[in-house]
Amino acid sequence: MNIAEKLSTMVRFRTVSSYRPEEEDESSFAAFIEALPGLFPGVHAALERTVVGPRGIIYRWRGKKPSLKPAIFCAHFDVVPASESDPWTEPPFSGAIKDGYVWGRGTQDVKVQIACILESAETLVTRGFTPERTLYFAFGGDEEVGGTRGAGAIATWFSDQQIHASWIIDEGSPVGQGLIGFVQTPIALIGIAEKGYADIVVEVEGKGGHASMPPRHTALGALAHALARIEDKLFPARLTKTTDEFLAALAPHAAAPYRQLFALRHILSPLMLKAFSATPSTNAMVRTTCAATMAQASPKENVLPTLAQAVVNVRILPGTTVAEVIDFLNALIAPYGAKAYAKFPEHAVEPSAESSTESEGWNSIVAAIGEAFPGAVPAPFLFTAATDTKHYRSITDDIYRFCPLVQTQEDLAAVHNVNERVSIENLERCARFYAALMSRQ
Ligand SMILES: [Zn+2]
Repeated sequence: MNIAEKLSTMVRFRTVSSYRPEEEDESSFAAFIEALPGLFPGVHAALERTVVGPRGIIYRWRGKKPSLKPAIFCAHFDVVPASESDPWTEPPFSGAIKDGYVWGRGTQDVKVQIACILESAETLVTRGFTPERTLYFAFGGDEEVGGTRGAGAIATWFSDQQIHASWIIDEGSPVGQGLIGFVQTPIALIGIAEKGYADIVVEVEGKGGHASMPPRHTALGALAHALARIEDKLFPARLTKTTDEFLAALAPHAAAPYRQLFALRHILSPLMLKAFSATPSTNAMVRTTCAATMAQASPKENVLPTLAQAVVNVRILPGTTVAEVIDFLNALIAPYGAKAYAKFPEHAVEPSAESSTESEGWNSIVAAIGEAFPGAVPAPFLFTAATDTKHYRSITDDIYRFCPLVQTQEDLAAVHNVNERVSIENLERCARFYAALMSRQ
């Protein structure tokens, strides 16, 4: 069976995760785990496998030198829902192989990485290769809904075994082709940090009563003012270590005037932060962002609300805390009688630390990129979504978030959307990347 057929088989298991376990088909997850030995017999003969709870799979590939700290390759095997009634060219759980692509949910996010990690190991095992350092593969089955049962349980297992890794690689940003307007060269975006996450409730209390004799501002009107204030008064823009190193890496490859701007970024900092603030994607790299997403007030047309509430989804820049965000917002909106607090404090995630770009992990990832993606420029990157790596922060100092696929704007649009697919060319390159990375360990 070739790599495309193996990924196709994986896609056919409906491992759709949900915050409501009764909506999940547990047998699909179990069947997925059970199918792996048949797909990768060499790996299952040479590596030890531990299944942690219903959603965690750990492989240990013992290295020749136990004194070296291990490295961990992560991915997840759950996927987001996909409706058969949506206009997919090929049904989302068909795993169709057609026109040079494998189609379906998980072909990009991220069964593709499990397939390629295991396929690379299978090839290396068959050749008789043994790494110097121990390698772990850690696959969770609920990343899309927080990762507690998968990565969370796996991280506990690592702590119990007192394993501290040299570095970890997990899903992340791709080798971008035309993703960044000012650079034409393909850029291998390696996430060295991850923004924090919090859903913040903004609310205003009102006195209620009949709508025929309203006060100057109802609770909802005051809430609208508070939200407008949050949109108008942005968090201050700032250059993190990650974005500073990102610009340093891109400067030689950027078109004028960006090349000069990036090279002089410390002197021209205010100018550059202003330029970055102009578009949503670059703005997200230099500041904590707030997006008002939900609102509710009175249950009836002619009744004044006693409580008006909105939710603001906040993505937090490394170096700022969830508590600081809440304080900042409360200071902004107090004049409107509004207050802000975390909706689910237990779901709020602090921004990550910023990983090193001089570590063993960084250097070998960059070397493997050179082998699998010749000509691509490796660049440290601030990852704006959340991954399973939040569970692994105590297991290692250096976490890298990288998706070894060449992706265009169109490819990225298909993630969590209809027509998610991966080209076979991309799939083979992805496996080459992991093989290059493993064979350096
Ligand atoms: Zn994912």
